[in-house]
Amino acid sequence: MVSSIVKMKEVSESLRKQNLTIGFVPTMGCLHEGHLKLIKRSLESCDQTVVSIFVNPTQFGPNEDLDSYPRQLESDIERLEATGVDILFHPSKEEMYPAGYKTYVQVQNISEHLCGKSRAGFFKGVTTVVLKLFNIVGPHNAFFGEKDWQQLAVIEALVEDLNLDVAIIRVPLVRESDGLAMSSRNRYLSSQERKTALSLSHSLQEAQNNIRRGTTSAKAISNSIRQYFLGKEGCEIDYISICDPESFKEKEQIRGRTLIALAVKVGPSRLIDNCIIEEF
Ligand code: AMP
Repeated sequence: MVSSIVKMKEVSESLRKQNLTIGFVPTMGCLHEGHLKLIKRSLESCDQTVVSIFVNPTQFGPNEDLDSYPRQLESDIERLEATGVDILFHPSKEEMYPAGYKTYVQVQNISEHLCGKSRAGFFKGVTTVVLKLFNIVGPHNAFFGEKDWQQLAVIEALVEDLNLDVAIIRVPLVRESDGLAMSSRNRYLSSQERKTALSLSHSLQEAQNNIRRGTTSAKAISNSIRQYFLGKEGCEIDYISICDPESFKEKEQIRGRTLIALAVKVGPSRLIDNCIIEEF
């Protein structure tokens, strides 16, 4: 495990000098099969795989779950060793944001929709930490999950606009066998809340069926998704968005490639899920 930035840069420089490709998977830990899918993609395609575990304080708002975000470093380390990851980068908060820290990067426009609307400062925190991690780890390829569809688009914009020398690799969303999108936050759910949480993937599935059967009105689809959550205790919809998957502009009619994205608070956890309607 590497905790210091100086050491991580030395390791990365030495790997690059040996002409080895570096794959990088940034995470906030509490690893599950979704993370492991990203890691496996890196192990398959790169000479060396670096995984970071860092619960990034700058992407949490004042009323969010930074303090209670699940942390389980020891079992994460065991999983990473069993998977064959070469390097774990696990810096402290002070190492990443020493006293007097003052620099942030922000992707405009696409950061302002969906999660950016309800989580002020979230993407600014994400892009700042991802840029810092890229500068420290120096990866050739970095792997991100489509579970966080908007985050991926924001990171792609960061890389393109700032001319970063890293290829962003998209990895499809990984679900539990019953359809629930895997998330570190699922472990906060009681068994009742977990049942309620299934409404995210079930409502998306139903939406896809309705669209296949000919519904094109975004409002009708959005209403059918909303129905799934009506009357469910401890459940609050943050947003249901039916939009362009690149610009995140809302659509009235489902024509062309479309993203349906949901954020719903279920008990203590804010959960997200999405699906893509391919052009038809
Ligand atoms: P996190 O630790 O939640 O910040 O996630 C770290 C990386 O894992 C991000 O690129 C996420 O998009 C990805 N990820 C998390 N959950 C899943 C999932 N269920 N399927 C695919 N990727 C995921």
